[in-house]
Amino acid sequence: MTETLAERRARLMGPNVPTFYDDPVHIVRGEGVWLWDNHGRRYLDCYNNVPHVGHCHPKVVEAVCRQSARLNTHTRYHHTLILDYIERLTATMGHGLSQMILTCTGSEANDVALRMAQAVTGKRGIIATDNTYHGNTLATSQLSTRRPPIGGYPGHVRLVPAPSSTDPLGGSAEAQPQAFADGIARAIAELEAEGSGFSGMMLCPAFANEGLPALASGFFDPAAEVIRRAGGVILCDEVQPGFGRLGSHFWGHDRMGFAPDVVTLGKPMGNGYPLAGVAARPDVMAAFRGAFGYFNTFGGNPVACAAGMAVLDVIEEEGLMANAAAAGAHALDRLEEISHPLIAEARGTGLFFGLELVLPDGAPATRFAAAVAEQMRHRGVLLNRIGREMNILKMRPPMPFTAEHADIAANVLGEVLAELPHDG
Ligand code: PMP
Repeated sequence: MTETLAERRARLMGPNVPTFYDDPVHIVRGEGVWLWDNHGRRYLDCYNNVPHVGHCHPKVVEAVCRQSARLNTHTRYHHTLILDYIERLTATMGHGLSQMILTCTGSEANDVALRMAQAVTGKRGIIATDNTYHGNTLATSQLSTRRPPIGGYPGHVRLVPAPSSTDPLGGSAEAQPQAFADGIARAIAELEAEGSGFSGMMLCPAFANEGLPALASGFFDPAAEVIRRAGGVILCDEVQPGFGRLGSHFWGHDRMGFAPDVVTLGKPMGNGYPLAGVAARPDVMAAFRGAFGYFNTFGGNPVACAAGMAVLDVIEEEGLMANAAAAGAHALDRLEEISHPLIAEARGTGLFFGLELVLPDGAPATRFAAAVAEQMRHRGVLLNRIGREMNILKMRPPMPFTAEHADIAANVLGEVLAELPHDG
């Protein structure tokens, strides 16, 4: 009997390896916003943000190949590419964020950021939201709610209620910023009482994993004030909203209008080449470098930097941030036009969208959202789900996504929503 790919994966990779879809897609090729499976079938990619400037963008491929053929070492030798890259990337940031550590994954970057907060404050207590994900290392996984840590959450971690646009904290959109800040103030008091003290808060400025709530600029102001007053450090995880995805600003924190002490980057940074990093002010970096020795064998290698540089080139040359604003606005219009009894809210900024599905009795339409994602896959459009109850459709396509692509996705989504029975 021939072994299926799923069986072979289980035999070689162990059980419980996450895949998308009941019938996972076997992708063999990508170009721009399109993917092809092993049967030659084409899919519109409305989900993947790692291939930020498009799958297999020739400029990035060429840069990686060229540098791979010339040299690939690490940061214990001098090479100028890393300096040129850090100079160019930090020039896109304000708030005195002028120095960087390059890593290979967003998880590592967040791990470093947590240690920066410890180094600056001499404390350990850390706050995140109660519906988030910041990575797969031991320290960052303790901030995730989907799989609580073995033995329970450690005393130095506090998870505060995450904001929502359909069920706002404090009962209204107006009350929500202060209610969010009040949750943080309570958590800080608990950390002080517990003995860990307060080192800072890690958050995604788009609250992407929380469900991408529609929040106005300034939302974070009361929370930032509470954190600063308590001497904490603001660690801003830009792994999802960064690099122009939100259309209006290159960075999510600038869209929200707050000044982080540390910014972490990942996913889109190398267009698929493992490249991530941490940007910090010199005083924060000095505290970290004084408290810890840090070396990352692969982080910031010349090929990674060549990939990162090519990504920045393409974003600029192809006007991808402006495209995110224009194509994103069109896509949101199209999503808002879809009429269906279970749609509670269509929301989005730039090329990042959520479509929240709720049953008539107010319960999350989790099963229905899952069925929609599956059907979309069968009709050749890849998207997925987020949210505490996984009832929010999530779309976050590569940045060369156009209005025409948005029309294809919205048309198929309209058909799928109309055809699927919606009883739960
Ligand atoms: N932060 C956020 C907000 C993420 O969504 C993720 C990955 N989904 C990470 C960090 C971790 O990044 P990586 O998988 O590159 O370690």
